[in-house]
Amino acid sequence: MYGEKRPTKAELVSRIQGAYEKARLLSGRATIEYYRPNGDYAVLYHHTEVIVAKKGGRRFILDSGGWRTPTTKDRINTVLNKYRTGFSVYQQNSLWYVYSSKHGQVCLFQDGMVLDKQRGFRKCDLKQTKGADAQLKKLKKQIDKFLEPLDTMQEIPLPDTGDCWMCHMETQDGRTLGEVSGDRDHIKSHIEEGYLHGSLIYRALQATGYGHYYQNGLIQWSGARDIIKRACRRYLLKQLGCAA
Ligand SMILES: [Zn+2]
Repeated sequence: MYGEKRPTKAELVSRIQGAYEKARLLSGRATIEYYRPNGDYAVLYHHTEVIVAKKGGRRFILDSGGWRTPTTKDRINTVLNKYRTGFSVYQQNSLWYVYSSKHGQVCLFQDGMVLDKQRGFRKCDLKQTKGADAQLKKLKKQIDKFLEPLDTMQEIPLPDTGDCWMCHMETQDGRTLGEVSGDRDHIKSHIEEGYLHGSLIYRALQATGYGHYYQNGLIQWSGARDIIKRACRRYLLKQLGCAA
């Protein structure tokens, strides 16, 4: 998404899986709405169907596609509002939650979660919702520890074909295999095993707008260390489902 060109309507339409009708560009970037032959309504933002309103406007399926940005949130909330669901997505400490004003309930946001206008959350792990903040703090500490070697490393590792494939392989649209598949396990295992490899650093810098650090060997400059660390931290959190 970062550094990605503004997609045309034709490009967006080509990303719709399955049959659709009445596709229309929405105002703002990279967003298209359409209907399914079965009457469902959907909004696609960049590569992800971020919200589907089931026929009848009672049930809704949400998906951030791993990109928990203010715009993704905005696209979802616009539809939830339009259907007067009483649900809204909000962010607190890099985590997303969904609030139901009709039911007075809060639930941690999950990709694929189903909201029911009448019944509220279809499945909500309250324990997980309550513990989310503490989990995030723990995760941030783990990531900081994982990135600590960057302070003292002689040289920053460069991307290598022997690196983790999920991090190394790029798909046609410039995203990695791991990003496209939404797999979080490889990221978690890298953190646990202290496996800080070149492809991961490379992608973290690309995805946060610092890809130019690879030009002219700037990447090995000692002054770049802080940027690399910040980019990796942000990228890892994002890959693990935290908001930008
Ligand atoms: Zn990986």
